[in-house]
Amino acid sequence: MINVEPYRIKVVEPLRVSTRAQRQVALEAAGYNTFLLRSEDVFIDLLTDSGTSAMSSDQWAAMMRGDEAYAGSRSFFALEEAVRDVYGFPYVVPTHQGRGAEHLLSKILIKPGQYTPGNMYFTTTRAHQELAGATFVDVIGDAAHDATAPGDFKGDVDLAKLEKLIADVGPSQIAYVNVAVTVNMAGGQPVSLANLRAVSQLCHRHGILLWSDATRCAENAYFVQQREPGYADVPVAEILRQMMDCFDGCTMSGKKDNLVNIGGFLAMRDETILQHARELVVLYEGMPSYGGMAGRDMEAMATGIREMVDDDYIGHRVGQVAYLGGLLLEAGVPIAQPVGGHGVFLDARRFLPHLTQDAYPAQSLAAQLYLDSGVRAMERGIVSAGRDPRTGRNHTPHLELVRLTVPRRVYTDRHLEVVAESVIRLWDARAGIGGLEMTYEPATLRFFTARFRPLAGAGGH
Ligand SMILES: *Cc1c(COP(=O)(O)O)cnc(C)c1O
Repeated sequence: MINVEPYRIKVVEPLRVSTRAQRQVALEAAGYNTFLLRSEDVFIDLLTDSGTSAMSSDQWAAMMRGDEAYAGSRSFFALEEAVRDVYGFPYVVPTHQGRGAEHLLSKILIKPGQYTPGNMYFTTTRAHQELAGATFVDVIGDAAHDATAPGDFKGDVDLAKLEKLIADVGPSQIAYVNVAVTVNMAGGQPVSLANLRAVSQLCHRHGILLWSDATRCAENAYFVQQREPGYADVPVAEILRQMMDCFDGCTMSGKKDNLVNIGGFLAMRDETILQHARELVVLYEGMPSYGGMAGRDMEAMATGIREMVDDDYIGHRVGQVAYLGGLLLEAGVPIAQPVGGHGVFLDARRFLPHLTQDAYPAQSLAAQLYLDSGVRAMERGIVSAGRDPRTGRNHTPHLELVRLTVPRRVYTDRHLEVVAESVIRLWDARAGIGGLEMTYEPATLRFFTARFRPLAGAGGH
């Protein structure tokens, strides 16, 4: 059957189509960084799937039930119940978004000098771990760093790498292991349940806590259903519970799979960690019964948590991403494969082989895509990877990607066809696309606010 939307549209938001000349002005004003564009200058916004979901009629209705009491809000208990039912974690501490939860977790579990292994870094996660004095160690399988390697579960942890780290530094020097499901920086690649169970056994045998970055856990559960032997007939909700059973807790950005525009949480099984989190959340976010969230936002998130595990919804969502990937593959455009759960990633190394990594090929390709059609994408390469805090040298990730992220329930397949057309136009004209140089670099998380200009003598405007 075709991948039909399991919803109908009740409210529409008009979009403006700009001219190339207008986009040229906007791009220069933004320093060739798509993060610095004004949203009203964008036609189709695939910058991120974070906080950009369309809420359901049930979520909007739930917002009216929001209890804005300073303490003991009814809406907190609705959220707690949803987390218990869907994730299976007994305790939850709301935060303003995912990084708020990462901040609390890093402060609670990390002693300076310890290690925090994970299946590929994530920008905010690693930044908070480093701020707390930890060193991140990548223990994902090698295939995840190869945009062309096949594999159903390229997000899997390489157990040998993790075992070696434990042997080298000793279990007490590992603050916790953090496993992301799916792996954002690897292009939304999922982790298998078999791998999660093996990692859980390994960690717990050594007395090491296993935490999940569960930001895209519903997408991961859907891939398990579709790809892992034995799960074809198991509902996504049940698979998600089995996944979470492997973990001691999770950090969550509600802005992704939870289908809300803002919010997040830290959830756990251990009461001591809960107590510590409640003490810290008061300092950094707000009372433990709202963290950084309004009551109405907790209601919307509680409803979104239940909606995200609907098999029809999640099948359509991941299917839409696959549709865009398929259009590009048919035209021979190099993309990261297999296509992941939340977006299609253009492989800028193969797209622009004439550019070296220090000419920021992915940053440049994202800028050219905006110029061509008003489609906004994001760089996931050397700019996002930042610098090593000790040596000051650039991280040079193998993956140099442009992320076309599909917001949930927002765009139609027709919009995605416009995106594909524009990318294919650039692919045909790729030889004329030049590189960039950085003119401003902020101290941390530079990809958000760095500025660039075309390299002297570079083609492609
Ligand atoms: C978005 C994201 C985060 C951070 O969440 P925010 O809500 O943006 O603070 C952490 N981990 C992953 C995998 C994410 O995608």
